[in-house]
Amino acid sequence: MSIEVSQVSKTFDTFTALHELNLKIHTGELVALLGPSGSGKTTLLRIIAGLEPPDTGSIIFDGEDNTEKSTQDRKVGFVFQHYALFKNMTVFENIAFGLKVRPAKLRPSKEVIRQKVQELLALVKMEELANRYPAQLSGGQRQRIALARALAVGPKVLLLDEPFGALDAKVRKDLRRWLRKLHNEYPITSVFVTHDQEEALDVADRIVILNEGKIEQIGTPEEVYDNPANPFVYNFLGNVNLFHGRMHDGKVELGSLQLEAPEHAGIGNADIVSYIRPHDIEICLEDEGKGFIAAEIFFIRAVGPIVNLELKRLDNDEYIEVEISKEVYRSLQLKAKQNVYLRPRDFKVYVPEDYVI
Ligand code: ATP
Repeated sequence: MSIEVSQVSKTFDTFTALHELNLKIHTGELVALLGPSGSGKTTLLRIIAGLEPPDTGSIIFDGEDNTEKSTQDRKVGFVFQHYALFKNMTVFENIAFGLKVRPAKLRPSKEVIRQKVQELLALVKMEELANRYPAQLSGGQRQRIALARALAVGPKVLLLDEPFGALDAKVRKDLRRWLRKLHNEYPITSVFVTHDQEEALDVADRIVILNEGKIEQIGTPEEVYDNPANPFVYNFLGNVNLFHGRMHDGKVELGSLQLEAPEHAGIGNADIVSYIRPHDIEICLEDEGKGFIAAEIFFIRAVGPIVNLELKRLDNDEYIEVEISKEVYRSLQLKAKQNVYLRPRDFKVYVPEDYVI
């Protein structure tokens, strides 16, 4: 089922949590709502679910206006951060619950329910645990059961609010991979809320980036990471070095660093913000002239295959983060307090509208 959010706004007392949002989610897509705390992710999810009415705008499922429909009539399944499983029911009974409580006319037979639960247990790889109670499960297992329970009633849309938020980093990572796999096998239109950039980049088909109740960008993980629409997105999606400077006559000037303006910057003279990912910076031991700046190594973190360096520019005392491979780090024999030369291999230029001359 496709979902269309059209001109949706929501105000609580005097605070506007969502500003005229527009969004189209295709059938079978796994979409992440990503943004900092308070950006409106949960409010948007609740409006899609029918748990909260929008002040303006509509929620359209498969071309049909569902704004006035109840949650039940929208056929959505939910999974929340705190797996609200029934404590006094086994795993099997928890999954079967939604089917058992259907009105007599719509209730499947006992045998059909048993089969459906078995299928779901297999899908979430929990067959052996059918007779356990929630207290006898790990957090990750409980969350998988919560998902199976949500799927049991055959929802057309699955809505997940920080489904792995309460779990530790390792389990989160396993479950992420698992959710992606599950979605490939069982491609139900799904929307999940997360404030974890890595989670969204790892799992989602597309990411909706929210900030202060507005959509900053919508795109595939690659699109939003490689071509962020503005400094907020760039900053939010991973480490980045931000420099203020000027663009003129096809050149970008960032302090003493002069670079050819990248093609996407267009032409014109303007004050600009330039952003450079730490892994897009090359380190040299010798000054190779134009396009390089001198910096002093301030801090080195050499755990794992990627080495993170923090350096201080000698021309203006700004800090720069750089990421290099362990091999490069070893071959250059870098040490704290050493002076080196840096050159951006790739960088983006953002021209704030107010500044264009
Ligand atoms: P988090 O990641 O912290 O859960 P979020 O992005 O999901 O944040 P929302 O829960 O959607 O954000 O909240 C958006 C804004 O709306 C917040 O400033 C919040 O305080 C406000 N808000 C949400 N629900 C209500 C409510 N029922 N009454 C008043 N304000 C609310």
